[in-house]
Amino acid sequence: MDTKLQEKYSRQILFAPLGLEGQERLLHSSAVLVGCGALGTAVANLLVRAGVGRLRIIDRDFVEPSNLQRQTLFEESDARDALPKAVAAERRLRAANSGVSVEGIVADLTPRNAEEMLTGFPLILDGTDNFETRFVVNDAALKLNVPWIYAAAVASYGLTMTVLPGESACLACLVEAGGARGTPAAPGMEETCDTVGVLNSIVGVIASIEAAEALKLLSGRPGALHGRLISCDVWSGRFQSIRVARDPHCRACGRREFTYLEGDAQPQITMCGRDSVQIHERRRALDLAELGRRLAPAVSGVRCNDFLLRFAVPPYEMTVFADGRAVIKGTRDAGVARSLYARYIGA
Ligand SMILES: [Zn+2]
Repeated sequence: MDTKLQEKYSRQILFAPLGLEGQERLLHSSAVLVGCGALGTAVANLLVRAGVGRLRIIDRDFVEPSNLQRQTLFEESDARDALPKAVAAERRLRAANSGVSVEGIVADLTPRNAEEMLTGFPLILDGTDNFETRFVVNDAALKLNVPWIYAAAVASYGLTMTVLPGESACLACLVEAGGARGTPAAPGMEETCDTVGVLNSIVGVIASIEAAEALKLLSGRPGALHGRLISCDVWSGRFQSIRVARDPHCRACGRREFTYLEGDAQPQITMCGRDSVQIHERRRALDLAELGRRLAPAVSGVRCNDFLLRFAVPPYEMTVFADGRAVIKGTRDAGVARSLYARYIGA
């Protein structure tokens, strides 16, 4: 490491458990982050500033004004321009630390593409907001034999646990009673940020613990991992840390049945947020500018950038991505969403 880098990371190198050797390892390490919302932006910011060598960021959403309260990498201009989060995060992180290779990917992590997108990284970080995707990540991490760090926050409460394949409990050990694929729900996590809100302070706590665990793994200090399920509530002030035993009959880490990864394909249509429906990509490439021109006479408020096309068909608003995926705001009805998609984008 040259003297400039030694000076840049001096406050971390001075931290004895890490030292010069740990920093050196970190600079040559990499990680992949799934989801770049509140937890994702916070953990990405910490790791890029700490000097992780390479970070891939996968996110399907675009920046909205209601994100800015807690998604600390984004600014008002990102929301005005409706930039995809993966793109906005990549720009901001490169400006924060040009020495790190940051790669933003605008995509929805699905059972179909998970292995391809996660392969090649020694660590997977959870920045998702739903259990369906977390179980895909859990399955993929166990199958690829790669550690991943589970993290979640809602309201004033959050929790995190590091999963080491073959050593620690996995997410299925924690929440799938009896190993059956039921409706997974960890205590207190049935609610979402769209229904009960979330404080930015709990996001900071959980993301910081997640980033510290990542630092230990990527600098070659696995002996320092906390080895527990840590939960806390910044409103009540209650902190808890418990050991989670491995379930010897666990569907995922015991029997290696990766039902989320290999099972039913993800439904074409899912709810996202309080009044939005997402139609998943159909593996089609759209020319957004051309589509925008074609739609302009029939719809209102057409806006287009390199990544997405947005327009209004009151009372609905449609956002279409280049891969054919679309988010329809203003309805919870899959039928309405499907018919709007067919009418304006094509069947
Ligand atoms: Zn398990």
